[in-house]
Amino acid sequence: MVGGGQLARMTQPAAVALGVRLKVLAAAPDESAAQVVNDPVIGDEKALADLRAFAAGCDVLTFDHEHVPPAWLEALEADGVLVRPGSAALLHAQDKGVMRSRLTALGVPCPRWSIVAGPDEVAAFGTDVVLKTTRGGYDGKGVWLVSADTPAEVVEEPFKAGVPVLAEERVDFRRELSAVVARSPHGQAVAYPVVESVQRDGICVEVVAPAPGLSPDLASEAQGLALTVAAALDVVGVLAVELFETTDGRLLVNELAMRPHNSGHWSIDGAVTSQFENHLRAVLDLPLGSPVARAPYAVMVNLLGGDLPEVYSTYRHIMARDPELKVHWYGKGVRPGRKVGHVTAYGADLESLRERAWHAADYIRGDIDE
Ligand code: ADP
Repeated sequence: MVGGGQLARMTQPAAVALGVRLKVLAAAPDESAAQVVNDPVIGDEKALADLRAFAAGCDVLTFDHEHVPPAWLEALEADGVLVRPGSAALLHAQDKGVMRSRLTALGVPCPRWSIVAGPDEVAAFGTDVVLKTTRGGYDGKGVWLVSADTPAEVVEEPFKAGVPVLAEERVDFRRELSAVVARSPHGQAVAYPVVESVQRDGICVEVVAPAPGLSPDLASEAQGLALTVAAALDVVGVLAVELFETTDGRLLVNELAMRPHNSGHWSIDGAVTSQFENHLRAVLDLPLGSPVARAPYAVMVNLLGGDLPEVYSTYRHIMARDPELKVHWYGKGVRPGRKVGHVTAYGADLESLRERAWHAADYIRGDIDE
């Protein structure tokens, strides 16, 4: 797995269970995943020589992020490396312009969109507009909300990155949903229950599986969309399709990720097979595991670094208060807003699951003291 973040870290327990040796290419020995695998390879994910040297020791190459340059993925494939998902699929998770035009060609519902060359074309596109750099954005970085009174210098900002800029209509949405599927080279695919994901400042803070009150029709439409996209783009591994449920009850695709995704973390504790295990099974072309939930609901709350004190001292209290709560810590340095862990509660009573998961997150953050 290229990338030493928390996604690679959470893949390791699944690899251990399957008896699969997970190798990781990390940027530094103290990265989240480098701490938990044997002999992590330290190198630069953007340097072809480092990628080639790493791939030489692997049967199959997969990723915990989208940052490997597309040209290097193609070069590795030309070398004969088994890259999963392949470069042609992965490009749709790396470039929002490519993703929008392909989805539109497939008839997948998207917000109205256009590639814009500068502020004049933004004004011509509309007044309530979302601007996105087509490459390099994540966690809300690279996204700007523009309205009639937005200062000119803010509208100019996205064009400074030197990559094409995507304009989208500002969608009036009820909530954000995510449909996570896994697909193998054989063409077998499984769909996880559709979840609701709650974002704050562009970062996912809470996921509820399944999305409460989602009509069965919309749930199967969302799963169907994700399975269609996975097959049409020949995705191998986990595909997460982020969706808007509009106020008038339609689904629009926001974006795609081709790796385990934050909206699937609940599956570690809450599903028969976690998204990490299914990602591994898929890239190894093994039969996929059941994505079925173990309980009526699972609530995952992300732990974001704030004025976090020493975290382990909080364990005694939260674990004693709630023996059924599952704590996941990524071993990362704490910085404001950075995802450093998550907690999951699963069971039948959604309100109490929410209360328990948020209580633990707030306590770990030091926002409450009992
Ligand atoms: P990133 O790649 O940084 O995750 P996204 O494209 O997912 O960026 O956008 C981040 C957030 O911005 C979304 O989760 C959503 O809350 C909001 N957003 C993005 N696109 C739109 C849109 N067209 N209309 C309304 N809100 C949007």
